[in-house]
This record gives sequence, C-alpha cells and structure tokens, in this order.
Amino acid sequence: MEFRLIAEYFDKLERISSRIQLTALLADLLKKTPPDAIDKVVYLIQGKLWPDFYGYPELGVGEKFLIKAIALATGVKEEDVESQVKTVGDPGEVAYRIKAGLGGKQASIYTFIGGKQEGVTVEETYDALSKIALAQGEGSRDAKIRILAGLLKKASPIEAKYIVRFVDGRLRVGIGDATVLDALASAYAGGTVARPILERAYNMRADLGNIAKIVATEGIEALKNVTPMIGIPIRPMLAERLTDPQEILAKLGGKALVDYKYDGERAQIHKKGETVYIFSRRLENITHQYPDVVEYVREYINANEVIVEGEIVAVDPESGEIRPFQELMHRKRKTDIAEAVKEYPVNVYLFDLMYLEGVDYTIKPLPERRAALEKILKPSDYVKIAHHIYADNVESLKEFFYQAISEGAEGIMAKSVNKDSIYQAGARGFLWIKLKRDYQSEMADTVDLVVVGAFWGKGKRGGIFSSLLMAAYNPDNDTFETVCKVATGFSDEEYAELQKKLAEIKRPTKHPRVVSKLEPDIWVEPQLVAELIGAEITLSPLHTCCYGKVEKDAGLSIRFPRFIRWRPDKAPEDATSVNEILEMYKLKLKKIEERPQPEA
Ligand code: ATP
Repeated sequence: MEFRLIAEYFDKLERISSRIQLTALLADLLKKTPPDAIDKVVYLIQGKLWPDFYGYPELGVGEKFLIKAIALATGVKEEDVESQVKTVGDPGEVAYRIKAGLGGKQASIYTFIGGKQEGVTVEETYDALSKIALAQGEGSRDAKIRILAGLLKKASPIEAKYIVRFVDGRLRVGIGDATVLDALASAYAGGTVARPILERAYNMRADLGNIAKIVATEGIEALKNVTPMIGIPIRPMLAERLTDPQEILAKLGGKALVDYKYDGERAQIHKKGETVYIFSRRLENITHQYPDVVEYVREYINANEVIVEGEIVAVDPESGEIRPFQELMHRKRKTDIAEAVKEYPVNVYLFDLMYLEGVDYTIKPLPERRAALEKILKPSDYVKIAHHIYADNVESLKEFFYQAISEGAEGIMAKSVNKDSIYQAGARGFLWIKLKRDYQSEMADTVDLVVVGAFWGKGKRGGIFSSLLMAAYNPDNDTFETVCKVATGFSDEEYAELQKKLAEIKRPTKHPRVVSKLEPDIWVEPQLVAELIGAEITLSPLHTCCYGKVEKDAGLSIRFPRFIRWRPDKAPEDATSVNEILEMYKLKLKKIEERPQPEA
C-alpha cells in the first residue's frame, strides 16, 4: 500500500471541522487499505507505531535530528534546512517544500537533478520507523538518521511532510478509539449495526490493530467469538456513584458484595507461566515499575494462565497499614526503581478475576469469579483479596463504610452478586457502585475533565496561560463538550509545567471532536485530563455539556471549579462523561428537594 494514501488523509484532516466528516474520511481510507496492512495503518493514523500497552519506546527524536535527516536526504546544506525550520516552524513543512522544489535555490537544483522521489509504501515506512524507535546503544543515533534520510529520499513531497511530522510527534491527532471503531464498522461490517460487536471485541482486547485485522481478514462473525488474551489488556469495568447507602442496596437488589475501596493504582495483572504483565487504569504497561509485584504474583498466584485485577497500595513498612495515594506517587516519581521498591513497599488487593486457564470468566457472575480467585491465591502478606463483606442490610453496609474510612480506605465499592453480575469490560454501570468519603462540597464527587483550550491570564498571571477550558466526554458522539473554565488550584510550579504542556499540544484550530461555544486564546489537542472539584453543577448558556437536555438554551457547568491534580492515568476518553454530569446535576436537585422546607 502506498504511504501517499495516509499522507493525503492527514492532509485532508487539517481542513475538516466535524466528527462526521472525520469518520467518513477514515472509513474511506480503511476501505482502501489491504487487510494485511490494516493494523499498521490503524496505529499510524493515531500517531503511534504500536499500542501503548506494548511498553515499547516512542520515537522521541529532537529537531536537530530531523534537520540532519532532511539535509542528508535532499543534499541541501544543514544550515539552510535549519534556517528554513526557524522561519517556517515546522520541519515537516520544510521537508515538503524542499522536496517540491520550493525550498530555495538548492532545493530547485535538487529537484532539477532528479532527486529520486517515486514514493514509499506503508510497509517500508512502518519498518523504517520501527527500526528508528527500537534502535538503542552506541552509534544508534547515526544509524537512525541514516534510516530516516533513506526513507525521506524516496518519499514524495507530501509523504515526506507527514513522515517528518510523525517522527516529530506532531501527529498526535486525537482520533479517538470510538471513531476508529465507527470507521471500521462502516468500512468492513455494514455500518452502525455492527458497532456493538466491534465494541464488545475491543473491550475484551484493547488493541485496535488486532480488532481491525480480525474484522478485515475474517469478517464480523469472527469478532463475535473474541475472548480475552494474555498480553492484551481488557478494558476496565467502571463503577457508578450514589450517595445514599439505602439507595445503593436497593439498586443492587437488596444484597451486595462490599469491598474496601483502596486508594492506590489500579492494576490488571496477566500471568502466563513466569511471564507477568501489569497494565494501568489506562492500559499502559507498568510492569517495570513494580518488580516487587511481579515477584509476588509469581509466588502467590497459583495458576498458569490467568488475568486478575486489583489495586496496588502503598503500605507502611513497619505496620503494614495502608498509606494514602500520594505515597504511591512518591514511589512512582523515583527513577531508581530498586530504591523505590525498598523505600515505598506496596501490597496488592485483588478484587476480580477475568480469565483462568483458557476459560473466559468475564461472562460469569461475580460470586463465581471471586470463588475462583480465592482458590488460586496462596496466603501471604503481600497479595490479598480486598477486604469485604456480604451485606443484605443498610446498617452493616454503613458500618463497613465507616470502618473502611477509619482504616484509611477511600470508601467502599458495593457490587452486584446477582446472576447477571458479569465483568462489564469497558462500561460504567450500576453493577458496581462506589460510595466515597464526602468532599465537603455540594458536589458528590470530583470530576475528571479534558483540557481543550486555554486563555491568557491577566494581572499577576499576565503573559501566561492561566485559565483552561475543560470538557467532559460524550461517548455517544465521541466528542468533548465544554463544562467550565478553571483558573484556581494551581501552584506556581504547576503553572510553569502547564505552559510547557500546552505548547506541546497546541493546534491552530478547534479539534473536530471538540464542541464549544467559547473561543479560547489557543486550542489544544484533547489529551490532558485533570481532576477538579467545584461548588455545584449549574445551568449555563455558555457551555455545551448536555446542551438542551435540561433547559432548551443551556448546558451544564461547574461553579467555582478548582484544580486538584493531573490524571495521567486517564485517557481523554476516560474523562467524566456528559451523562455522569447530568446524573450529578439531578442528584443535586434531589438533595435540594429533600432539604426540610421552611414552614410557610
Ligand atoms: P473510575 O475508575 O470509576 O473512572 P476514578 O479512576 O476516578 O474513576 P474512582 O472514582 O475513585 O476512580 O473509583 C474507581 C476506582 O477505584 C477503580 O478504577 C479502582 O482503581 C479503584 N478501586 C479500589 N478498590 C476497589 C475495589 N475493591 N473494587 C473495584 N475498584 C476498586
């Protein structure tokens, strides 16, 4: 397959503004893609070479590197390339101009003497880029430059532009997984009717390349039989929230398995023989951060092939008591892993089992999954089952909640034990309900929102971006709808860091997946997720979240939002959804109604 097709796709992408056009364009590209290259194309259009959970290195090269490669590929002097990059600001554009004979005298000589540019294939581009990413050690830098120069030499001008932008990391174009699934449904499976099948398969195996390959080569029927696979993460099951213990129990049919809700890092653990993988909440490979956990799993989980899930929690080395989340963050910030392991020991509290010795447990009810989990676990201080009770009355649920909090947990997770209590991969539902410590605010919970734009500050914060336009995720449309502007809660250090982050993800126009009425000073790729708390959820004509759902000409907004922390463990699509915001708004109304009314 010619790389030109992908390059042209990126080129068109810059000019479109709606998500519908984006999906149609993508479907068109996928239709033209030969099935055996489709996994690679799917990764490339998301600005990646492989799924994040591989844990392989990213391309990560600097501007100097690109300049050298462009010079070597075209014969134009390095200084000339460099000065053009300075003026134009984008090495990809410079590569394009030189190759098209527009980049000054030397470039026209270059095209005149017939610098070869017959075009490159997707396969050779992919191979070359993988080699560049994976090459390590002494002399690898020169080798990498030579590989890239070779590729650029052969590439046509537009191909060169997008290859350079890809290597430069400028192609993190924010095409969501849901959009890719829509496009696959339309290209290979007869349209939206097939969407749920694709989605289910993707929830079982969060590798879009794998899913694309199956549907393109074997068809939609084969996708129906997809089960979890060791090494490919399952998308996590998520909990709904309620604030009233009585309502929680009623919602679960009067009885529940109630776990401590630990405040650590979610971990999906895969084991096959001695091989262990640990995946984070956002399905990144974090195995290398937890060599101690890898050892514990080998030692205390008595199964050959298994996928389990739990929370990794920092513990006091002396007493073994659980420690707050911040402690775990200290550990994660350390670069010397061996030392981090010693200084900040952890325990693992397991709460689920999804796959065991070839059997798919995601379709079995929770009591069966827990029974299997108990069977394979050898007793130890390090890997335990989450502290839990089976509750069938509100008093015991409440008592357990207070006990959980007094022992340092964040609250409780009440879980359905009914026949239909399957592991709902990738979905947030009422089979699990969380009850957390109150945040001393009208809002029952914090929200995780995505940065989509930024505004210049004034006065003390003049000259920097001080206010961020934040959006919630709409999973039905795969878009981001704005909820508020946040400008408080940041430390000076966080502000400084923020400026760098924004510069990296800045874009000239609004991203097609962002829905906004406000026009910030800069738009950014929807990538960064922040946790916020506010005074309450209110109606607002300025914001697009749930617009028209409650009132005809208003959306929902958060009043007095305050930044709490970044959530690097969340992808933008893991942000709080617009439906959750709507639920929180309704909850607020209910609370107000329940308040004792002053006597007339
Ligand atoms: P969510 O994961 O629901 O999007 P979040 O990441 O902001 O939200 P919370 O709302 O605090 O986290 O609650 C869910 C998280 O609680 C899970 O992702 C998991 O990491 C953690 N957790 C701790 N203990 C348990 C447990 N016993 N069962 C399930 N999850 C648990």
